[in-house]
Amino acid sequence: MKYCVLASGSQANATVVESGNVRLLIDAGLRCRTLEARLKAIAVTPESLNGILITHEHVDHVAGLARFVKKYPLPVFANYNTAAVIERQCLLEQLPVPEFALFDSNLPFLLEHLTITPMQIPHDTAEPVGYLLDDGEHCLGYFTDLGYVPEPVVQALRRCSGLILESNHDLQMLRQSGRGFQLISRISGRAGHLSNEQACEAVANGAGAALKIITLAHLSAECNQPELALSLMKGTLKHLGRSEIHVAIARQNQPLPFMEL
Ligand SMILES: [Zn+2]
Ligand SMILES: [Zn+2]
Repeated sequence: MKYCVLASGSQANATVVESGNVRLLIDAGLRCRTLEARLKAIAVTPESLNGILITHEHVDHVAGLARFVKKYPLPVFANYNTAAVIERQCLLEQLPVPEFALFDSNLPFLLEHLTITPMQIPHDTAEPVGYLLDDGEHCLGYFTDLGYVPEPVVQALRRCSGLILESNHDLQMLRQSGRGFQLISRISGRAGHLSNEQACEAVANGAGAALKIITLAHLSAECNQPELALSLMKGTLKHLGRSEIHVAIARQNQPLPFMEL
Protein backbone atom coordinates (compact mmCIF):
# COMPACT_ATOMS: atom_id res chain seq x y z
CA MET A 1 0.00 0.00 0.00
CA LYS A 2 1.18 3.50 -0.73
CA TYR A 3 -0.28 6.97 -0.45
CA CYS A 4 0.36 10.46 -1.69
CA VAL A 5 -1.01 13.59 -0.03
CA LEU A 6 -1.79 15.89 -2.96
CA ALA A 7 -2.75 18.82 -0.77
CA SER A 8 -3.51 19.37 2.89
CA GLY A 9 -4.49 22.43 4.90
CA SER A 10 -7.38 24.78 5.46
CA GLN A 11 -7.62 25.65 1.76
CA ALA A 12 -7.81 22.22 0.15
CA ASN A 13 -7.38 18.53 0.96
CA ALA A 14 -6.90 15.49 -1.27
CA THR A 15 -4.95 12.25 -0.90
CA VAL A 16 -4.39 9.28 -3.22
CA VAL A 17 -4.21 5.79 -1.71
CA GLU A 18 -3.16 2.78 -3.73
CA SER A 19 -3.18 -0.93 -2.90
CA GLY A 20 -2.83 -3.55 -5.62
CA ASN A 21 -5.30 -2.66 -8.36
CA VAL A 22 -7.34 -0.32 -6.16
CA ARG A 23 -6.71 3.39 -6.30
CA LEU A 24 -8.77 5.82 -4.25
CA LEU A 25 -8.95 9.48 -3.58
CA ILE A 26 -9.73 10.66 -0.06
CA ASP A 27 -11.53 14.01 -0.38
CA ALA A 28 -11.53 16.31 -3.39
CA GLY A 29 -10.97 19.75 -1.91
CA LEU A 30 -8.79 20.97 -4.79
CA ARG A 31 -10.55 22.67 -7.68
CA CYS A 32 -11.03 20.31 -10.60
CA ARG A 33 -8.20 21.71 -12.71
CA THR A 34 -5.72 21.78 -9.84
CA LEU A 35 -6.69 18.26 -8.88
CA GLU A 36 -6.08 17.12 -12.46
CA ALA A 37 -2.70 18.89 -12.49
CA ARG A 38 -1.55 17.37 -9.20
CA LEU A 39 -2.65 13.89 -10.24
CA LYS A 40 -0.71 14.36 -13.44
CA ALA A 41 2.35 15.48 -11.46
CA ILE A 42 2.37 12.11 -9.67
CA ALA A 43 1.55 10.16 -12.87
CA VAL A 44 -1.96 9.11 -11.81
CA THR A 45 -4.72 9.40 -14.41
CA PRO A 46 -8.21 10.32 -13.12
CA GLU A 47 -9.59 7.39 -15.13
CA SER A 48 -7.50 4.96 -13.07
CA LEU A 49 -9.27 5.90 -9.81
CA ASN A 50 -11.87 3.50 -8.38
CA GLY A 51 -13.68 6.01 -6.21
CA ILE A 52 -13.55 8.94 -3.82
CA LEU A 53 -13.96 8.66 -0.05
CA ILE A 54 -15.46 11.75 1.55
CA THR A 55 -14.67 12.68 5.17
CA HIS A 56 -17.08 15.62 5.52
CA GLU A 57 -18.73 18.42 3.56
CA HIS A 58 -16.49 21.40 4.40
CA VAL A 59 -15.48 23.20 1.24
CA ASP A 60 -11.75 22.47 1.72
CA HIS A 61 -12.67 18.77 1.31
CA VAL A 62 -15.24 18.86 -1.50
CA ALA A 63 -14.61 22.03 -3.55
CA GLY A 64 -13.66 20.13 -6.72
CA LEU A 65 -15.86 17.08 -6.19
CA ALA A 66 -18.91 17.87 -8.33
CA ARG A 67 -16.97 18.99 -11.41
CA PHE A 68 -14.37 16.23 -11.11
CA VAL A 69 -16.90 13.40 -10.99
CA LYS A 70 -18.99 15.01 -13.71
CA LYS A 71 -15.90 14.81 -15.92
CA TYR A 72 -14.66 11.46 -14.62
CA PRO A 73 -17.66 9.44 -13.38
CA LEU A 74 -16.63 7.71 -10.16
CA PRO A 75 -18.51 6.41 -7.13
CA VAL A 76 -18.38 8.88 -4.27
CA PHE A 77 -18.39 7.08 -0.92
CA ALA A 78 -20.06 9.05 1.86
CA ASN A 79 -22.49 8.49 4.69
CA TYR A 80 -26.10 9.59 4.20
CA ASN A 81 -25.93 12.80 6.25
CA THR A 82 -22.77 14.03 4.54
CA ALA A 83 -24.11 13.14 1.08
CA ALA A 84 -27.37 14.96 1.81
CA VAL A 85 -25.56 18.20 2.68
CA ILE A 86 -23.26 17.96 -0.35
CA GLU A 87 -26.30 17.37 -2.57
CA ARG A 88 -27.98 20.50 -1.16
CA GLN A 89 -24.78 22.53 -1.67
CA CYS A 90 -24.54 21.33 -5.29
CA LEU A 91 -28.16 22.20 -6.03
CA LEU A 92 -27.71 25.67 -4.51
CA GLU A 93 -24.60 26.31 -6.58
CA GLN A 94 -26.15 24.73 -9.68
CA LEU A 95 -23.45 22.10 -9.84
CA PRO A 96 -24.05 18.51 -10.97
CA VAL A 97 -24.94 16.24 -8.05
CA PRO A 98 -22.41 13.38 -7.63
CA GLU A 99 -23.44 9.73 -7.73
CA PHE A 100 -23.12 8.62 -4.12
CA ALA A 101 -22.31 5.13 -2.84
CA LEU A 102 -23.70 5.44 0.67
CA PHE A 103 -22.18 3.69 3.66
CA ASP A 104 -23.13 3.33 7.30
CA SER A 105 -20.50 5.10 9.42
CA ASN A 106 -20.65 2.22 11.92
CA LEU A 107 -19.90 -0.53 9.41
CA PRO A 108 -16.77 -1.44 7.46
CA PHE A 109 -17.21 -2.08 3.73
CA LEU A 110 -15.15 -3.81 1.07
CA LEU A 111 -13.70 -2.48 -2.14
CA GLU A 112 -12.05 -5.42 -3.88
CA HIS A 113 -9.51 -6.66 -1.30
CA LEU A 114 -9.51 -3.42 0.67
CA THR A 115 -11.49 -3.15 3.92
CA ILE A 116 -12.56 0.43 4.51
CA THR A 117 -13.63 1.26 8.06
CA PRO A 118 -15.21 4.67 8.55
CA MET A 119 -14.79 6.04 12.07
CA GLN A 120 -16.89 8.88 13.45
CA ILE A 121 -14.90 11.87 14.65
CA PRO A 122 -15.91 15.07 16.46
CA HIS A 123 -16.08 18.02 14.04
CA ASP A 124 -18.70 20.67 13.31
CA THR A 125 -20.35 19.04 10.28
CA ALA A 126 -23.24 16.62 9.67
CA GLU A 127 -21.48 13.28 10.22
CA PRO A 128 -17.71 13.61 9.88
CA VAL A 129 -15.55 10.50 9.61
CA GLY A 130 -11.94 9.40 9.41
CA TYR A 131 -10.95 6.15 7.71
CA LEU A 132 -8.94 3.00 8.21
CA LEU A 133 -7.91 1.31 4.97
CA ASP A 134 -6.70 -2.23 5.45
CA ASP A 135 -5.44 -4.48 2.64
CA GLY A 136 -4.56 -7.41 4.91
CA GLU A 137 -0.91 -6.48 4.92
CA HIS A 138 -0.95 -2.80 5.81
CA CYS A 139 -3.41 -0.47 7.46
CA LEU A 140 -3.53 3.26 6.81
CA GLY A 141 -5.35 5.65 9.13
CA TYR A 142 -6.67 8.99 7.89
CA PHE A 143 -7.79 11.37 10.63
CA THR A 144 -8.04 15.10 10.05
CA ASP A 145 -10.62 17.69 11.09
CA LEU A 146 -11.34 16.48 14.61
CA GLY A 147 -11.58 18.45 17.83
CA TYR A 148 -10.17 15.64 19.93
CA VAL A 149 -9.21 12.01 19.36
CA PRO A 150 -12.02 9.74 20.60
CA GLU A 151 -11.01 6.54 22.36
CA PRO A 152 -12.09 4.19 19.50
CA VAL A 153 -9.76 6.11 17.18
CA VAL A 154 -6.87 5.84 19.68
CA GLN A 155 -7.51 2.07 19.75
CA ALA A 156 -7.65 1.97 15.94
CA LEU A 157 -4.27 3.68 15.67
CA ARG A 158 -2.70 0.53 17.14
CA ARG A 159 -3.41 -1.28 13.85
CA CYS A 160 -1.91 1.39 11.60
CA SER A 161 1.37 1.07 9.75
CA GLY A 162 0.73 4.44 8.09
CA LEU A 163 -1.01 7.38 9.66
CA ILE A 164 -2.19 10.66 8.19
CA LEU A 165 -3.01 12.73 11.26
CA GLU A 166 -4.09 16.30 11.75
CA SER A 167 -1.64 18.60 13.53
CA ASN A 168 -3.52 21.81 12.91
CA HIS A 169 -2.27 24.47 15.26
CA ASP A 170 -0.02 25.50 18.06
CA LEU A 171 -2.37 26.61 20.81
CA GLN A 172 -0.26 29.59 21.79
CA MET A 173 0.07 30.79 18.19
CA LEU A 174 -3.69 30.38 17.77
CA ARG A 175 -4.41 32.43 20.91
CA GLN A 176 -2.02 35.17 19.77
CA SER A 177 -3.25 35.13 16.17
CA GLY A 178 -5.45 38.20 16.52
CA ARG A 179 -8.47 36.13 15.53
CA GLY A 180 -11.79 36.69 17.23
CA PHE A 181 -12.68 34.80 20.39
CA GLN A 182 -15.41 32.82 18.64
CA LEU A 183 -13.14 31.59 15.85
CA ILE A 184 -10.38 30.67 18.31
CA SER A 185 -12.95 28.77 20.40
CA ARG A 186 -14.27 26.98 17.31
CA ILE A 187 -10.83 25.85 16.12
CA SER A 188 -9.56 24.75 19.54
CA GLY A 189 -12.94 23.40 20.70
CA ARG A 190 -14.27 19.85 20.94
CA ALA A 191 -15.64 19.98 17.38
CA GLY A 192 -12.74 21.86 15.82
CA HIS A 193 -9.20 20.86 14.95
CA LEU A 194 -6.35 18.95 16.63
CA SER A 195 -3.44 20.92 18.04
CA ASN A 196 0.15 19.75 17.73
CA GLU A 197 0.01 18.61 21.35
CA GLN A 198 -3.18 16.62 20.79
CA ALA A 199 -1.64 14.90 17.76
CA CYS A 200 1.42 13.98 19.82
CA GLU A 201 -0.75 12.71 22.65
CA ALA A 202 -2.74 10.52 20.25
CA VAL A 203 0.46 8.99 18.90
CA ALA A 204 1.87 8.54 22.41
CA ASN A 205 -1.31 6.70 23.45
CA GLY A 206 -2.09 4.85 20.24
CA ALA A 207 1.07 4.07 18.24
CA GLY A 208 1.34 0.34 17.63
CA ALA A 209 4.31 -1.87 16.78
CA ALA A 210 3.52 -1.72 13.04
CA LEU A 211 3.62 2.08 12.78
CA LYS A 212 6.16 3.10 10.18
CA ILE A 213 5.18 6.47 8.71
CA ILE A 214 3.27 9.46 10.09
CA THR A 215 2.21 12.30 7.83
CA LEU A 216 1.15 15.36 9.78
CA ALA A 217 -1.69 17.05 7.95
CA HIS A 218 -4.09 20.00 7.82
CA LEU A 219 -1.52 22.40 9.30
CA SER A 220 -2.76 25.94 9.77
CA ALA A 221 -0.82 28.44 7.64
CA GLU A 222 -1.07 31.17 10.28
CA CYS A 223 -1.21 29.31 13.59
CA ASN A 224 1.45 26.67 13.10
CA GLN A 225 4.90 26.12 11.69
CA PRO A 226 5.91 22.90 9.94
CA GLU A 227 9.23 22.79 11.86
CA LEU A 228 7.40 23.13 15.18
CA ALA A 229 4.87 20.35 14.44
CA LEU A 230 7.70 18.14 13.16
CA SER A 231 9.99 18.68 16.14
CA LEU A 232 7.17 18.07 18.65
CA MET A 233 6.20 14.79 16.96
CA LYS A 234 9.83 13.69 16.68
CA GLY A 235 10.28 14.50 20.37
CA THR A 236 7.25 12.37 21.20
CA LEU A 237 8.57 9.46 19.14
CA LYS A 238 12.01 9.74 20.74
CA HIS A 239 10.38 9.65 24.17
CA LEU A 240 8.50 6.50 23.09
CA GLY A 241 11.74 4.92 21.85
CA ARG A 242 10.28 4.94 18.32
CA SER A 243 12.62 7.34 16.52
CA GLU A 244 12.67 4.98 13.52
CA ILE A 245 9.16 6.12 12.56
CA HIS A 246 9.36 8.51 9.61
CA VAL A 247 7.50 11.81 10.01
CA ALA A 248 6.51 13.94 7.02
CA ILE A 249 4.61 17.21 6.85
CA ALA A 250 1.86 17.49 4.26
CA ARG A 251 1.80 20.72 2.26
CA GLN A 252 -0.94 22.92 0.93
CA ASN A 253 0.69 23.93 -2.33
CA GLN A 254 2.46 20.83 -3.58
CA PRO A 255 2.06 17.05 -3.43
CA LEU A 256 4.36 15.04 -1.19
CA PRO A 257 6.12 12.02 -2.73
CA PHE A 258 4.35 8.67 -2.49
CA MET A 259 4.86 7.03 0.92
CA GLU A 260 5.25 3.27 0.71
CA LEU A 261 4.10 1.21 3.68
ZN1 LIG B 1 -10.59 20.74 6.65
ZN1 LIG C 1 -13.54 20.53 8.35
